[in-house]
Amino acid sequence: MTHVLIIGAGIAGPVLSMALSRVGIESTVFERDEHGAYQRGGWLTFQANGMDALRAIDAAGPVEDLGYPLDTISFVNGRGRALGRMPLAATRTDGQESLMMPRADLYAALGDEAARRGARVEYGKRLVTAQRVDGGVRAEFADGSTATGDVLVGCDGIHSPVRTLIDPDATAPRYIPVLNAGGYIPKFEVDVPAKEFRMQFGTRCFFAWAPTPDGGTVWFANPPMAHEPERGVLSTMSDADWRTWLHELMDGDVGPAHEIIDAAPGPLFGWATYDLPVVRRWHDGASMLVIGDAAHATSPAAGQGASMALEDAVVLAQCLRDTGCARDAGRAGAAFGTFESLRRDRVERIVKQGHRGSSAKAAGPVARHVRDMLLPLMFRRAERDGGKSMQWLQGHHIDFQQRVS
Ligand SMILES: Cc1cc2nc3c(=O)[nH]c(=O)nc-3n(C[C@H](O)[C@H](O)[C@H](O)COP(=O)(O)OP(=O)(O)OC[C@H]3O[C@@H](n4cnc5c(N)ncnc54)[C@H](O)[C@@H]3O)c2cc1C
Repeated sequence: MTHVLIIGAGIAGPVLSMALSRVGIESTVFERDEHGAYQRGGWLTFQANGMDALRAIDAAGPVEDLGYPLDTISFVNGRGRALGRMPLAATRTDGQESLMMPRADLYAALGDEAARRGARVEYGKRLVTAQRVDGGVRAEFADGSTATGDVLVGCDGIHSPVRTLIDPDATAPRYIPVLNAGGYIPKFEVDVPAKEFRMQFGTRCFFAWAPTPDGGTVWFANPPMAHEPERGVLSTMSDADWRTWLHELMDGDVGPAHEIIDAAPGPLFGWATYDLPVVRRWHDGASMLVIGDAAHATSPAAGQGASMALEDAVVLAQCLRDTGCARDAGRAGAAFGTFESLRRDRVERIVKQGHRGSSAKAAGPVARHVRDMLLPLMFRRAERDGGKSMQWLQGHHIDFQQRVS
């Protein structure tokens, strides 16, 4: 039976393992970190197409109970003037809405479900290199151990080592000139209707807040930073540094930002973000491929990275099944080609959309003026459209039984 080495147990890795077992392909997942190290990070918007991908392999159950639904996004400027509101997503015929959930809970739910279904996951295994060997691929890990399989799939995130093994000149992640900070504040109410995310194009900083059904608030801020901070610089900033800086950035803007900054449980910290515009080579034509963020990371502004990684995992399993890879691993190159032809246009369109969203957050004074004039028109159009123009994105459906070619 064909054996796939999966590198990375983030979002794509465990789901790929589950999807492969449904098509008669064995796999082992190798994760750099120790088990449970994903228990960090903020909240994410989990859009309906991600749930659709999980449903395709009957793995949605544990995720359906996480978080809470969101259906509207509204915008104000620094003076508190409403710029508009629009549906967060397209309306799906199955009624699936987008959810807001802690990133760590999503990781844990997917990892636990994969384990419950018997997925083999080895933790503390940092891939350092891999080579093609007779009829397969051999992976080497930092602890000196090795593993051999027929195919190796890099689900190893935006800084993917597998991507550079496939193409040493592969595109490096592109820095997005806004940082991220945020989290959840229990027992802190904001004056925003249920299921709505309020976003503020502040004078100097993008700031957002949304109520949770348990009387808390989820928030995030995107402080602008034109140049990529040197490695380690952000980790030297203390909780007090972050609070002071965020207060300065939001100074004079109308809204609850200052109360949120004061009430947010500490320690506050922030991180830089990146996307990957175009990765020319997703595979080596024979035994190695990247999926998820390793192939096409999108800016957080798109709120789609997790859902795209899940779609990839499920579609890749279909491609391996329908090119006959379960019996003949030599067909992997054909499966990779099919996968790329099914996925590339869609994911690159989302990366572009995410980049546009991030650029609007980092606008200078002139761009801000133009943006404040144009946005209300755009939002009115989007509201009238009722989310139809986003149908291609969140309305995406995978029929796992359907043959792909
Ligand atoms: C600030 C921020 C906000 C975001 N908000 C959203 C959002 O609202 N909605 C959304 O859908 N997405 C969001 N995302 C993106 C989302 O988190 C990613 O798109 C998603 O996690 C990609 O899944 P993945 O499995 O491809 O990679 P990851 O989840 O990054 O998993 C990669 C795994 O590979 C492991 N790994 C790395 N190197 C090695 C190695 N050498 N050997 C072995 N293992 C290795 C890592 O430890 C990790 O576990 C956001 C991202 C950021 C940074």
